This record gives sequence, C-alpha cells and structure tokens, in this order.
Amino acid sequence: MIEVRGLTKDYGRTRAVDDLSFDVRPGHVTGFLGPNGAGKSTTMRMILGLDRPTRGTALVLGRQYPAHHRPLWEVGAVLESRAVHGGRSAYHHLLCLAQSNGIGRRRVHEVLGLVGLGEAAGRRARTFSLGMSQRLGLAAALLGDPAVLLCDEPVNGLDPEGIHWIRSLLRTLAAQGRTIFVSSHLMSEMALTADHLIVVGRGRLLADASVAEVIAAS
Ligand code: ADP
Ligand code: ADP
Repeated sequence: MIEVRGLTKDYGRTRAVDDLSFDVRPGHVTGFLGPNGAGKSTTMRMILGLDRPTRGTALVLGRQYPAHHRPLWEVGAVLESRAVHGGRSAYHHLLCLAQSNGIGRRRVHEVLGLVGLGEAAGRRARTFSLGMSQRLGLAAALLGDPAVLLCDEPVNGLDPEGIHWIRSLLRTLAAQGRTIFVSSHLMSEMALTADHLIVVGRGRLLADASVAEVIAAS
C-alpha cells in the first residue's frame, strides 16, 4: 500500500510535482501514466525516500522511508539508469546484494529464473543489452520478495518477448497480493499491463480510475 498526500516538488522555479494525492492498493497493477516530464520519476523517488518533497507526504506500508534505508523485503524498486559497472557476472552482482542483506543463494537462482536471465547469469553484467539490464534490475528488486514494487518505465528498450515476459511477471506478482506501481508514457502499454491508472500531466493528477474508465473517457 502506497499513500500519497499533497505531494509537491519544486526544482528552483519548476514545479515538477503539483499537489498529488492518490493511493496504490495491493492486488493490482497500478499504472502511472503521463508524458515525459510529467513528474513520474520525481514522484517515485519521493515515495522511495530518495528525494525530499517540498510539501506533502508519501507513505509506503504506513511508513516514510529515510533515504537508502528501505528493507529489500518491504519495497523493491527498478528506477531508470541502472547500468551495472565492473566485471562481475550478473549472478555475482545479485549474490553480493543478497549476501549483504542476509538473503540466500537459492533466492538468487529463483529471481534469475523469474526474470528469464537463468542462462545469461554467468555473463558480465556490463556486456548486457538494455533489455537484459532491465531484467537484472528487476531481479535485484525482487530479491527480498517485497510486498511493494515500483518500476519506472520497466519495458523501455525491451523486445516484444521481453515486454510480454515482464508484463506477465508484474501481473502474477499483483495476483499474489503485492502492491505494484509501474510508470509509462504509453497508454497502449498501460492498457495491456495495468488494472488501474493514475494519470498525470505537468505534475498534476488528471485521473485516478480503472483502465476501462480512462479509455472510455479518452
Ligand atoms: P517524468 O518521469 O514524468 O518524465 P520527471 O519527474 O523526470 O518526469 O520530471 C518532471 C519535471 O521535473 C521535468 O520538468 C524535469 O525537467 C524536472 N526535473 C526532474 N528532476 C530534476 C532535477 N534533479 N533538477 C531539476 N529539474 C528536474
Ligand atoms: P505462498 O502461497 O507459497 O505463500 P505467494 O506467492 O502467495 O506464495 O507468496 C509468497 C510470499 O510473498 C509470501 O510468503 C509472502 O511473504 C509474500 N507476499 C505475497 N503477497 C504479499 C503482500 N501483499 N504483502 C506482503 N507479503 C506478501
């Protein structure tokens, strides 16, 4: 469960997020739809405690997170620009993250399977295509089996097979009762992935309704 109330963010004289209020409920894929520059990433960063609101609050599971203190088993996040540097394999990258959070090897294999990276796991992560890096980011976000998952434009740069894979994974996670919040600038993508939509433009809330209602109104 995510509760956003009066969330506002100014960057100098630019109001990136303007008095947003909405809830993201468990058991659904909630899409966060709006054109580039609408304030989606800024909102997600504030929900994660990575950016301070100018005004308002964002609660996740009833709490406000201080920056970089989100337990992996509560909230997973896949934000943009998540390139992995260094020469480690995808498997070792995940294993290090798992071990520093008290998560076992078995879960590393599990999440690699979930995102479809099982066969590529031995390759150096920096040689990965954008699509494979996206999958690796999602695998890392899923390590702690989190109750809440935020994904910023998760299908950008993926091929049709990858898009289909991620889409069904997100739907499965929601069906298990998790809270899934996914941004996109494409209505066509959201229509296939989400149940419910939060629509924003220029930082403002334009709609908070089911996908069917948003399509009927447009
Ligand atoms: P979206 O994710 O919907 O594309 P963003 O949240 O990235 O939108 O951006 C919303 C607005 O805030 C844009 O006008 C963008 O230029 C501005 N913005 C975002 N981050 C910063 C920043 N760190 N400094 C200044 N302006 C920013
Ligand atoms: P199982 O029926 O084997 O528990 P699930 O896939 O339904 O399988 O859930 C696996 C784990 O995911 C559960 O043990 C639970 O901890 C976690 N989980 C699923 N949904 C939620 C949720 N909404 N909130 C918190 N944890 C959840």
